[in-house]
Amino acid sequence: MTATVPIRTSEAFQKCLSPSCGATFDVGEVRTSCGDCGGLLDITYDWRRLFVPDSLRWFEAKWSRRNELLARSGVWRFHELLPFAPPEKIVSIGEGQTPLHSTPGVARYVGVGPDNLYLQYEGMNPSGSFKDNGMTAASTHARMVGAKMTACASTGNTSASLAIYAGVSGLFQCVVFVGSGKIAYGKLSQALDYGAKTLQIRGDFDDALARVREVCEQHPIYLCNSVNPFRLEGQKSIMYRVMEGLGWQVPDWIVVPGGNLGNSSSFGKAFQELHQLGLIDRIPRLAIINAAGADTLEVLVNNQSLNWNDGRSDADLIRDFYGTMDAENRRAHTLASAIEINRPVNLVKALRALSVCNGVVRSVSDQEIVDARAQIAAHGFGCEPASGATIAGVRQLREEGIIAASDRVACVLTGHQLKDPDLTVAYHMGDPKRQAEKLHPAGVHSTPFANSPVVVDNDTNAIVKALGL
Ligand SMILES: *Cc1c(COP(=O)(O)O)cnc(C)c1O
Ligand SMILES: [Zn+2]
Repeated sequence: MTATVPIRTSEAFQKCLSPSCGATFDVGEVRTSCGDCGGLLDITYDWRRLFVPDSLRWFEAKWSRRNELLARSGVWRFHELLPFAPPEKIVSIGEGQTPLHSTPGVARYVGVGPDNLYLQYEGMNPSGSFKDNGMTAASTHARMVGAKMTACASTGNTSASLAIYAGVSGLFQCVVFVGSGKIAYGKLSQALDYGAKTLQIRGDFDDALARVREVCEQHPIYLCNSVNPFRLEGQKSIMYRVMEGLGWQVPDWIVVPGGNLGNSSSFGKAFQELHQLGLIDRIPRLAIINAAGADTLEVLVNNQSLNWNDGRSDADLIRDFYGTMDAENRRAHTLASAIEINRPVNLVKALRALSVCNGVVRSVSDQEIVDARAQIAAHGFGCEPASGATIAGVRQLREEGIIAASDRVACVLTGHQLKDPDLTVAYHMGDPKRQAEKLHPAGVHSTPFANSPVVVDNDTNAIVKALGL
């Protein structure tokens, strides 16, 4: 969809990420790339002409206005930090009411001090993943430009989130593209239940994304994938809430799983802006954790020294890498389906985030992911496998001595446990057949934290015996 509608938004505009281009476009324009050079777009603001509070504490005043939707939303409570939309256009369902939790049990597992490990529990969003933070913003922009239909390709959570906003607002028809057989049932059930037209493409996520981009370019459909720069504006609020949870202090580390790299990119942007605005005096370090079976960022950054280079990152290196990947027909493969992505669309933005935050990238095996996920759940925070990558990553960075035991670490739990119950059950069941099917192909051969059900006869004495009473 390409259209221009007259909106008076002179303080916010879309800007090409590449400093050598730097082209700007009105926020009333619908585009997913720079019209001049094809690069990624950022939403930027003329902060001097906008009201910006002089301290982050100012936002606490909104807590007393929780009966107003835009003060209750954990995204729009920070509207002053993503001022691209007039209030009457905002599409919100009270997303982002997600707390930061201190978790001594998980701290012990990763080897940091008992009070130093925090979980930002984004599974508590309306559709059960952090995606709602971004989808409220993209849906708002879709409304601003008068879109009638929204679309996305998805490993599952994006479609669930898009579908919920289309369903609840009644403003858009909604179509989601998913790869065949690659979507966790919890997520697929949501898209169907919220009424999205669901296309199962014979291909994987990378294929589905390529197709949806083509279709949206040729037809009046508003594209909501993470190439959509407005989504990332909403996702910045996850970091505002992390700091809120720490009494507006900046942690030492932010740890996040990396899939399409929208989240990590938005975090870098959030901290860069807060620093520029003088609202923080220090920027945390960022750790992006790939699954070993979908480690494009990790390989490019750590083995091939790809970096932001002030906006002049090595495009040839990236092109060659993808060329080899295609020639060898290499496909992403991990149990953490939400990050099973080999061509992260926000790669270059994530390089900027790594530069802003002095960041690191690591990859972790599926065995490490499912064990970490089980440990998080055992301490009361149910999350899906992709989120488990954060804790597996912290463990690795602790072992390397890059994260210190005294560092304060905030991990983003990106999606809820109930998104992928199949895998959880396979882990705990101890049923060799089920486990083998689900877990072995991914290289998971042990389940040290399994909590298997005990089968007993329908007999009180047998039950008492099984309970060891
Ligand atoms: C989308 C998603 C991710 C990956 O986030 P990106 O912004 O694409 O890097 C990780 N975990 C969950 C649960 C997700 O839904
Ligand atoms: Zn450009």
